[in-house]
Amino acid sequence: MKIGCHVSIAGSIDLSFKRAKEKGCTTFQIFLKNPRGWSAKALEKEAVVRFKNQVVKSGISPVFAHISYLPNLASLDKTVNKKSIESLLIELERCKTLTIPYFIIHGGSHTGGSFKQGFDTYVNSILKGLEIVGNKVTILVENSAGGKNSITGDITRIAKILEEIGDERFVKFCFDTCHGFGAGYDLRNKKAVTNTLAVIESNIGIENLILIHANDSKGDFMSHRDIHDHIGLGRIGEEGFKQLVNHPLLKNKFWILETPVNKIRSDIENINFLLSLVENKKG
Ligand SMILES: [Zn+2]
Ligand SMILES: [Zn+2]
Repeated sequence: MKIGCHVSIAGSIDLSFKRAKEKGCTTFQIFLKNPRGWSAKALEKEAVVRFKNQVVKSGISPVFAHISYLPNLASLDKTVNKKSIESLLIELERCKTLTIPYFIIHGGSHTGGSFKQGFDTYVNSILKGLEIVGNKVTILVENSAGGKNSITGDITRIAKILEEIGDERFVKFCFDTCHGFGAGYDLRNKKAVTNTLAVIESNIGIENLILIHANDSKGDFMSHRDIHDHIGLGRIGEEGFKQLVNHPLLKNKFWILETPVNKIRSDIENINFLLSLVENKKG
């Protein structure tokens, strides 16, 4: 079971490997730039070389990159749309430069227009991204907590996005447990997990689910709220995660935690807690 968490790139992007190692990660996730702004400071050449060396030598793989917060790839506002695509392309270009194989994008919101308009804009954004990365980077569409104007809260709509792109090789799925729970996919017990995975299997295909963002939820079931909690301490709870990590369909998936950073639990403690729920460690 490959498991890790989101890791900071503060100081220099290659330092993420050292941090991931310290947290006991066997895979991890980073941002490619300051996630809270539109601008992207150029990557230092030496840092790129050091990063690529670690990709080969560290034994920690794969590295996942997550899109920054501001882009809305479904935006119908011309200015926001332009900036969002620019940011997407810069970040995808960085994946290519750094030899990062997976890039996660969140769902957009079709504020100011119809669902259909937002959906088409979102699909077109992905197609533009694929044009520049060719077969070097796989884009993972992440489910959102749903709610008003959401493009990706509903798993059947994500299936439609993948279908519309029409190239299953380079666009796949990332399931965030906190978002799924908020959107109305129950995960609190064995039956609920089985049902939710059946929805993924029948619409998207388990083979197209690459990554699980393992986060508990502070928000209630179907609340459409996106507030992450420590594993087992939120509304999904310990039983839900126990069922998830032991489910045969999720055996070969990658697990990344985006749990809160506070005094209640550290990243290492969350990773170890999730691992402690695995029943047959050898399997
Ligand atoms: Zn997530
Ligand atoms: Zn979230």
